[in-house]
Amino acid sequence: MFQINQHYTELQGSYLFSRIASKVRAYEAEHPEEEIIRLGIGDVTLPLAPAVIKALHAAVDEMAVKETFRGYAPDLGYEFLRAAIRDHDYKSRGADIEIDEIFISDGAKSDTGNIGDIFSASCRAAICDPVYPVYLDSNVMDGRAGSYLPETGRYSNILYMPCTEENGFIPQIPSEKADMIYLCFPNNPTGMTISKEELQKWVDYALENGSVILYDAAYEAYIRDENAVHTIYECEGADRCAIEFRSFSKNAGFTGTRLGFTVVPKKLKCGDISLNALWARRHGTKFNGTAYIIQRAGEAVYSEEGQRQTKEQVDYYMKNASLILEGLKEAGYTAYGGVNAPYIWLKTPDEMTSWEFFDSLLWKAHVVGTPGSGFGPCGEHFFRLTAFGSLEDTQRAMERIRNFSC
Ligand code: PLP
Repeated sequence: MFQINQHYTELQGSYLFSRIASKVRAYEAEHPEEEIIRLGIGDVTLPLAPAVIKALHAAVDEMAVKETFRGYAPDLGYEFLRAAIRDHDYKSRGADIEIDEIFISDGAKSDTGNIGDIFSASCRAAICDPVYPVYLDSNVMDGRAGSYLPETGRYSNILYMPCTEENGFIPQIPSEKADMIYLCFPNNPTGMTISKEELQKWVDYALENGSVILYDAAYEAYIRDENAVHTIYECEGADRCAIEFRSFSKNAGFTGTRLGFTVVPKKLKCGDISLNALWARRHGTKFNGTAYIIQRAGEAVYSEEGQRQTKEQVDYYMKNASLILEGLKEAGYTAYGGVNAPYIWLKTPDEMTSWEFFDSLLWKAHVVGTPGSGFGPCGEHFFRLTAFGSLEDTQRAMERIRNFSC
């Protein structure tokens, strides 16, 4: 009889978004006349930029002609895109990253979820709480998490790094030894970012302790603060201890189009073994390349027009973010984030649980957000609103929130 990967049975049900959906359905069934505004979504709403669409059309036309038709894409990505990434995302920030250290993929979710393939199941993973759930669940699947402890809502072998109001939602360097450290800045869900100086401390820790940092910079384009770090490779020595994940989803609206990349520097080694070579082997074996037309669309993001147009989109969302942040503050809430990230992390009033606040906001203001407890136990008593709605919806939602009392 075949046996399953038992670690999958240790996964906790992902009830967050299904529970939100069922609560919204229940409300709608009782109040079909009421219009609900959704500020819970993590998906973009603006269409792809004209420069991207133009490149997509041109690439589609190439696929229709024998001479320019392309079959399988190179496993690691087309050089035209990898060169654009190297120049715009790394060289421009003084980071010495080469083309063969950049691996094109279909997005940061796959890469952050799959990276565990090249690490031993015996590694100790350090993960923030609250967190983007993929890091935790993929470690459970890989057998690295230990057993689930219902009384704490945590796994026995994970080293949790609480991100709380007290520490400004910035994780503290663990006192126990961590092998794999997941960091995400700007952060989902808290909206926080990190200075180069602070991130350097993590890099120093990793170098001293033989740890690898798995750095998710999917929201890099939202950084406004001059001191915030855009890539971990701005830090000294990061090319010997860090892997960086990037996405075209939030900077250029590719959530449905799918494009991302991961940087694995050649200097990053475990003994004599290069992680770059391992990831190339993994990628080449289990991934068959991102579509040519999508990579051309990605290249267009780096064109002058593409940069201008995608920046306008990010600015549009950031205007929403500041409307939400200011609106919440005016209404008397304690709120964080929204300055270098499209996420606003608000403290629920009067010690309400995240779900109590969700229900109250839905039933009284007809606005949907995301309960913070869904991102981990330390998210309890917090609530996430996102800036990815339309300006009009965001304005109307804030009007309702200003006039609402729990
Ligand atoms: N990383 C973080 C922190 C995210 O919040 C998300 C999506 O919401 C992703 C990665 C996924 O990115 P992609 O669309 O490239 O898979």
